[in-house]
Amino acid sequence: MKNTDLYDVIIVGAGASGLMCALQCARRGKRVLLLEKEGQPGRKILVSGNGRCNLTNVYVSAENYQGSQQLVQAVLQKFPFQKCLAFFHSLGVLTVQEEAGRVFPRTGKSTAVAEALRLACAEAGVELKTNSRVVKIEKKQSFRVTLQTAESFYGKYCVLACGSKAYPQVGGTEDGYALARALGHHIEPLTPALCALNVKEKAVARLQGIRAQVRVRVWPGTAQEIQNEGEVLFTSYGLSGPAVLNVSGAVSRALKRGAVPFALDLLPEVPNKQALLKERAALFSQRRAKEFFAGLLHENIANLLIDFAGIRKNVPVKEWTPNTWQTVARTIGAWPFSVVSARPWTEAMAAAGGVNCAEINYNTLESLCCPGLYILGELLDVDGRSGGFNLHFAWGCGFTAALAMPED
Ligand SMILES: Cc1cc2nc3c(=O)[nH]c(=O)nc-3n(C[C@H](O)[C@H](O)[C@H](O)COP(=O)(O)OP(=O)(O)OC[C@H]3O[C@@H](n4cnc5c(N)ncnc54)[C@H](O)[C@@H]3O)c2cc1C
Repeated sequence: MKNTDLYDVIIVGAGASGLMCALQCARRGKRVLLLEKEGQPGRKILVSGNGRCNLTNVYVSAENYQGSQQLVQAVLQKFPFQKCLAFFHSLGVLTVQEEAGRVFPRTGKSTAVAEALRLACAEAGVELKTNSRVVKIEKKQSFRVTLQTAESFYGKYCVLACGSKAYPQVGGTEDGYALARALGHHIEPLTPALCALNVKEKAVARLQGIRAQVRVRVWPGTAQEIQNEGEVLFTSYGLSGPAVLNVSGAVSRALKRGAVPFALDLLPEVPNKQALLKERAALFSQRRAKEFFAGLLHENIANLLIDFAGIRKNVPVKEWTPNTWQTVARTIGAWPFSVVSARPWTEAMAAAGGVNCAEINYNTLESLCCPGLYILGELLDVDGRSGGFNLHFAWGCGFTAALAMPED
């Protein structure tokens, strides 16, 4: 092998973390080869945020992630929100902030982000090879990286930025796990995250298409109840919407132990449901159940709740027993569902599980099993809430590894 054949860094995967890492390495004067199996870089960036790319979040912090808090904290410390914003502005991407701290490119198009990264990489001298699927990585004195076509490349350092198996329609694959495993890593069990959930209660189909502001409450079998407030969308199979997506990773993990108890607080802004119901009972004592809930709950939700609570529809509320009032208050505060499974990988926006973070140096993202190898982004056992947190983590990983890589 001639010295000119040796790259400083070979990066496998030109997604969010790989593009960022390639750019930062090249800006540090390294000779970088970026290998991508798809015909273009950043396909997941392009579909992200419904094609608008929610690239970061004002409120980015470790609590918004499942997985190793220490690793996430170390990455976010080096690449906080302001740094992320300044970075994209420096690439020429103007941004706008929307509700809940979500940040999007001002053009309203994810192409702005993917194209800015691609151009900056090209300008910094990154060699990008598309349609180049890596099937083998061997570590001797240097790394030998072999493509499906049997062509090999050599690098002093190697970066695995292959992403997760979520959303195979845009390139999600298990390749990264296999490559990491072959270099000595262990993979924490994989389950879909940021996805809708199937529930046992078939009657939920009666609410298909209805949205409501709720607090989701989940008892994943660990000591702590998980809560998330926001919008739920009822579907033919179960529950979706941002509030559900945000707890789906934790639910998905817990499903390995069986069905997961799950409840919706239909009036999260009302701490004392009993008191509210009493007030309404005094005002509307002549009303029957359906009329009683008018203005309080969506009509279809109220109908299902009436059935669920076993209330006789034609009896005026003044005749309800204390037991009925209690059931109604309890159901409004914690309407129970039993989650039986997560939706399939083709609908999951992220993966829970991945390369065990205990095998990674938190500060550098270098592998503790294979020195000189760096592992980034969604391939790691870290998953964030919806709202720009996953892309932020991917950018942060690329930035952290590139800065940590030795000068030579
Ligand atoms: C529909 C959808 C919407 C989303 N919306 C958002 C959002 O708005 N905000 C947000 O924060 N997150 C969002 N996400 C999640 C976010 O896109 C990912 O978390 C992020 O892209 C992960 O970055 P990554 O670099 O780890 O992996 P990716 O960006 O997935 O990049 C991995 C790359 O590696 C390539 N690759 C894999 N194996 C090989 C191989 N063997 N050889 C060569 N190349 C390989 C893949 O083709 C891919 O290009 C969304 C995800 C989906 C699916």
